[in-house]
Amino acid sequence: MELNICHLYPDVLNLYGDTGNILCMRRRLAWRGINSAVQRVRVGEKLDLTNCDLLLIGGGQDFEQEVLLPDLRAGKSETLRSAIEDGICVLAICGGYQMLGQYYETWQGVRCDFVGALDLYTVGSQQRMIGNTVYRFRKPDGSESTLVGFENHSGKTWLGEGVEALARVEVGYGNNGEDGTEGVHFKNVFGSYSHGPLLPKNPAFCDLLLQTALERRYGRAELEALDDSAEQAAHDAMLHRLIK
Ligand code: GLN
Repeated sequence: MELNICHLYPDVLNLYGDTGNILCMRRRLAWRGINSAVQRVRVGEKLDLTNCDLLLIGGGQDFEQEVLLPDLRAGKSETLRSAIEDGICVLAICGGYQMLGQYYETWQGVRCDFVGALDLYTVGSQQRMIGNTVYRFRKPDGSESTLVGFENHSGKTWLGEGVEALARVEVGYGNNGEDGTEGVHFKNVFGSYSHGPLLPKNPAFCDLLLQTALERRYGRAELEALDDSAEQAAHDAMLHRLIK
């Protein structure tokens, strides 16, 4: 078994260590004897998601998101829309998450018409939403779990009818600091404002992504349990620091 991972815009959207999410996914696959390969696609390079199982898009500054617009219009937006409709597993963080929506209007009023794959939009604000976070999310088996991380954004994201929130905000701002939602879940797309990187301290969520990608490629796939004591200790240390 193997999984192909694509890292989109590692040159532009990678301001907050989100590459660590790929390191975490590869390590948790390798510990289970599952091979993985990473293809990095930069501005100006062709994006072919035909054989991609897992796509990661990281976060970035408003300016960097504006830089991407011509490159998205040159073909990547269409490729992303069709791959998402086809069920590719995506982890999109902050700016990368915003980019999959209809548009992002920066707080200076610059309108970035984005991919339009997800029914959501983002409006920049003068308020910077920064800090450690705790989000509550529901696992596929219906049980609740927590995601710890940190956020740093001025964009406020509003979800449309066609998508659901990934989680509820326990500590922090989440999508907009107003409606208690955090991130998005649509088909096999998981968007979050959580940097960190997100996955190392949230092993169950990392395994959810791996399971989703493996099932799409191979049908049923059982991930053997790992000793997550160190990861859980790191997770719980933040949880106990943030939730008194
Ligand atoms: N530039 C966007 C915002 O400020 C995204 C920031 C990020 O990716 N952390 O909302």
